[in-house]
Amino acid sequence: MEDEGPECGKPDFVLLDQVTMEDFMENLKLRFEKGHIYTYIGEVLVSVNPYQELPLYGPEAIARYQGRELYERPPHLYAVANAAYRAMKRRSRDTCIVISGESGAGKTEASRHIMQYIAAVTNPSQRAEVERVKDVLLKSTCVLEAFGNARTNRNHNSSRFGKYMDINFDFKGDPVGGHIHSYLLEKSRVLKQHVGERNFHAFYQVLDSDEKSHHQAVTEAMRVIGFSPEEVASVHRILAAILHLGNIKFVELEESSLEQRGLAVTDEVLVDHVAELTATPRGMVLRCLLARTVASGGRELIEKGHTAAEASYARDACAKAVYQRLFEWVVDRINRVMEPRDRDPRRDGKDTVIGVLDIYGFEVFPVNSFEQFCINYCNEKLQQLFIQLILKQEQEEYEREGIAWQSVEYFNNATIVDLVERPHRGILAVLDEACGSAGPITDRIFLQTLDTHHRNHPHYTSRQLCPTDKTMEFGRDFRIKHYAGDVMYSVEGFIDKNRDSLFQDFKRLLYNSTDPTLRAMWPDGQQDITEVTKRPLTAGTLFKNSMVALVENLASKEPFYVRCIKPNEDKVAAKLDEGHCRHQVAYLGLLENVRVRRAGFASRQPYSRFLLRYKMTCEYTWPNHLLGSDRAAVSALLEQHGLQGDVAFGHSKLFIRSPRTLVTLEQSRACL
Ligand code: ATP
Ligand code: MG
Repeated sequence: MEDEGPECGKPDFVLLDQVTMEDFMENLKLRFEKGHIYTYIGEVLVSVNPYQELPLYGPEAIARYQGRELYERPPHLYAVANAAYRAMKRRSRDTCIVISGESGAGKTEASRHIMQYIAAVTNPSQRAEVERVKDVLLKSTCVLEAFGNARTNRNHNSSRFGKYMDINFDFKGDPVGGHIHSYLLEKSRVLKQHVGERNFHAFYQVLDSDEKSHHQAVTEAMRVIGFSPEEVASVHRILAAILHLGNIKFVELEESSLEQRGLAVTDEVLVDHVAELTATPRGMVLRCLLARTVASGGRELIEKGHTAAEASYARDACAKAVYQRLFEWVVDRINRVMEPRDRDPRRDGKDTVIGVLDIYGFEVFPVNSFEQFCINYCNEKLQQLFIQLILKQEQEEYEREGIAWQSVEYFNNATIVDLVERPHRGILAVLDEACGSAGPITDRIFLQTLDTHHRNHPHYTSRQLCPTDKTMEFGRDFRIKHYAGDVMYSVEGFIDKNRDSLFQDFKRLLYNSTDPTLRAMWPDGQQDITEVTKRPLTAGTLFKNSMVALVENLASKEPFYVRCIKPNEDKVAAKLDEGHCRHQVAYLGLLENVRVRRAGFASRQPYSRFLLRYKMTCEYTWPNHLLGSDRAAVSALLEQHGLQGDVAFGHSKLFIRSPRTLVTLEQSRACL
């Protein structure tokens, strides 16, 4: 590794003298203070958000990492991007880079740097189609952030959706396409936000002249990607329509009124706007707002008027759904232009892929709802994968190198994942059953069922099961002991959010729009109410299915991990709040990661690399050895230091058991 100097701490936590939280934090802090925001745990990169521009990025830095081995240079995102890229290119392995950490920890910035690295090192021959794909890949971030990000109290540019992006490479190693999967957009934000927070950026960009430069940048990015001017105009109209829709209010009329309906909107001009912007008939808009169609008995359709509360609820559901469909359409539109055109015939038409996952971290708020429940379940799944892959990888390497290995004990969070997703009894299954029941069902009844099923589960409790715990409210809260900590969830709204239903009338209305872009977002609006018999999958089940597929996908690839840490809650530079960081180190399982890495062998490296680093410490190897093989030379070097008892010799790599050995070697190197 290029020297950072001992005053900068250990570039790999595996080199710590002892694996304690104190030692870990001391090293993290020391490095952070010196501007070294990146540190390895083996091949896992730990990154601390500096909250300031550091001179770490750009073409020169990229050139320093290009084509190098992971440990040759100081720890960096570019090194990880490079390692993933080389594994993909040299060994035709699909790889993925999983970026995790809490809100504001720097995940999206990290994925941006990774993309920039890949864009910079590919397509030396400047092929036009590859350049086009790279442009779309880079510009897609700007568009997705406009629609999917918002200012929150924790991050001014917080991603309110999970994102997994595949980049497809041809046999030359150049990007020829890509695909984005988005996960669980926080659409409730369309309706309301916490104090101090904002709606999705896109709304301000169409409204506010202060946002003009952003608006232009996004519009330009959409143009580059290939959105037509008509499509961009439709998108703007849809955003405006949502804003007007949100302002519509209802009033229940006196019975003596001459109106046919018992309900009216207070400001009909808003209805005009919505109709115009969505290119739908005004009368139909009004009817959808005030009533719904129900199939009574056989095929007879009747119109049932809303109460004011029902109408407000339906309006909100519509606003959320329109935004969600808009977002999904944008993702889909980008995917269409990124679809790989020329498949590599040598891989049966399959390209090699690097996936980049930038997904929400574990969330705990004073009140946690269905969204947090899904997000935290997602983190359980990813943590499980992390542990499995890290162990699996280790084990495979030992086998490949012919090294004897003993498996390591670790906390297996499978039991928590099971609590959530187990068929029939798991929380999601119980919730689905509640949502599907014909009679009146309440969140409270759902909670009671959970209590019955999970009264003995070590990771589940509620006020009913633990009456002395006054932090939970009876009939409202349950608590899950997650791997990352305890989270109390309020069941209020669980059933509703899981059902996530929208009256068919709205779907039909929007499908009948004369705006082709809007119409394309509502294919299910074609159906007649009498045809809509099948119950759609619930939000929870859809999310679960998408998580299962995601994990399967990641598990099939060679993984690289970036674990992001947020240094403080104030979003300021040069401040590392120890308590806050400790908590993250604990729940990201970083100490466990170091231990697992060291329990087998603290370090492993190819013989050639080991020699390059330490050959000057031994007379037989400096400046060059004459010992027949690098392995023999390494053996001679270690014997001279009296360290041969602490290592194992693999086919191509040296495995070093205790970090002390490395420290000794480093010291003798430093003494020269
Ligand atoms: P969320 O889960 O809310 O989306 P996140 O983990 O994606 O959060 P980012 O948006 O990547 O967080 O980072 C938050 C902010 O921190 C950025 O807007 C930027 O100001 C700063 N930041 C993050 N990483 C870096 C970096 N490497 N250098 C400088 N500033 C950074
Ligand atoms: Mg983000």
